[in-house]
Amino acid sequence: WKNAPASLRAIALAACDHGDALCTVYNEERVSYDSWFRATAALAHHLRDAGVRKGDRVALAMRNLPEWPVAFFAITSIGAICVPINAWWTAQELAFGLSDSGSKAIICDIERWDRLNSNEDSAPLPEIRIVSRAAEPVKGAERLEDILGHTDAWADLPDRDLPEAEIAPDDDATIFYTSGTTGAPKGALGSHRSLCTNVLSSKYNLAFAPLRRGEMPPAPERKTVLLVIPLFHVTACSAAMVGYFVSGHAMVFMHHWNAEEAMGIIEREGVNLTGGVPTIAWQLLDHPARKNYDLSSLELITYGGAPAAPELVRRIREEFGCEPGSGWGMTETMATVTGHVAEDYLNRPDSCGPAVAVADLKIMSADGTEELPVGEVGELYAYGPMIAKGYWNRPDATAESFIDGWMRTGDLARLDEEGFCYIVDRAKDMVIRGGENIYSSEVENVLYEHPAVTDAAVIGLPHQQLGEEPAAVVHLSKGQSASEEELQQWVGQRLAHFKVPVRIVFTDEMLPRNANGKILKKDLRALF
Ligand code: ATP
Ligand code: MG
Repeated sequence: WKNAPASLRAIALAACDHGDALCTVYNEERVSYDSWFRATAALAHHLRDAGVRKGDRVALAMRNLPEWPVAFFAITSIGAICVPINAWWTAQELAFGLSDSGSKAIICDIERWDRLNSNEDSAPLPEIRIVSRAAEPVKGAERLEDILGHTDAWADLPDRDLPEAEIAPDDDATIFYTSGTTGAPKGALGSHRSLCTNVLSSKYNLAFAPLRRGEMPPAPERKTVLLVIPLFHVTACSAAMVGYFVSGHAMVFMHHWNAEEAMGIIEREGVNLTGGVPTIAWQLLDHPARKNYDLSSLELITYGGAPAAPELVRRIREEFGCEPGSGWGMTETMATVTGHVAEDYLNRPDSCGPAVAVADLKIMSADGTEELPVGEVGELYAYGPMIAKGYWNRPDATAESFIDGWMRTGDLARLDEEGFCYIVDRAKDMVIRGGENIYSSEVENVLYEHPAVTDAAVIGLPHQQLGEEPAAVVHLSKGQSASEEELQQWVGQRLAHFKVPVRIVFTDEMLPRNANGKILKKDLRALF
């Protein structure tokens, strides 16, 4: 503990106390906290011996596998910077991540390795390369299993300490890339303090809802979590996984999201917590085979990252008999900055909650010169110790968005008297029709209320006189029908006339989303 101030290293050392408790489950592979720590210490020594030093970047490119948290804590516990790489990225994008971060080492699964090597004119690979899940020896890389053994052998690894390292809270810990929803992904540089703060604020927030009502928060218990969002996204890693290590929760991983498989896992493992993005909740609710599964172990489904229709709160409560929770955050804030569950959320289903205990919010005018009063919509700014230090390698973008400790979010929102935050749109997605602002999420929420609609996005189409006009792309539930006129009437009865989409296009598929569950409106605009 000597050299362990608030740091991921301290969290790794503390999590070692969970002993035989289950840490990760992946198909048949069950790893205890003790085995995870042995593997983590072994890999940390291996990286150190291979020449990885404090401040070096180490890319981590794989699906949610049991070796993900091993690599994450091995890298960060010796003071190196973990660069989680989006597993969905193409060969070119992977090469971008490696060169942009200047990674000295890469730890990846065999799928990512093969993809990386399919790129003929790629930049040189990092000096140190470790590949997991390869059936045969890999040319040009070491196999993780030759270093640690397979997951079932981690329990037999020697019981060792982590290698010596001195880490201060403000040392660099991670570079997470933004989702690339509005442009090229940018790397957000997070410190050990950012990640530790997230653990504190998510725990505090859960305790705070009962405290608000004058009740004591429940005693901490080990829970089973189905962690379906990708760990390379800041929410899964920083708001969820790191906190689960503190609590000693068991994390169940899936190779990729599949609603029916997820329901099978919830029943089999007795999953208590899940969520991630709103789409996950929708897909579980609307699945035709749902009644075949016992989902009664579920206690809490939380989500954020994209607008959540208010309709979701009622349906989760009524149909799953568990609590919904919602929050707001972005890669640059290193996880959730607002959040709420239970009555707070029920009473304000269109809010993403108040700021967590250690954060502050304010609403600024579009030009950033004036703070707006309660109730007015403007650009949301967020402040707090979790916020990233800036963008890696992007001094201009950093200067534009990180202002005196405040993060300029690019989201439009309002705050109410009690500090609850209501996200209305991304500034880039707002439709301006003849000078009237139309928040796409407001129109989408009304479409979602229509019984036939399961997926909807509103975008602006260029118009000569008006500048822009709203249009919608909609996906209907199986076996349901609705016409363009019917949906236009539906919206017209509920919202001002100028907000009614002038065109509604139906698609056979759910709308295109990126790995983090965000609808790719830039692709939809191109479609029109
Ligand atoms: P890029 O910045 O590369 O264009 P991105 O903004 O989608 O991609 P992320 O950092 O993953 O990358 O996402 C943060 C954004 O997600 C926020 O700025 C906001 O627009 C959206 N978001 C997050 N939580 C919510 C929420 N509860 N409601 C509505 N939108 C949300
Ligand atoms: Mg963004």
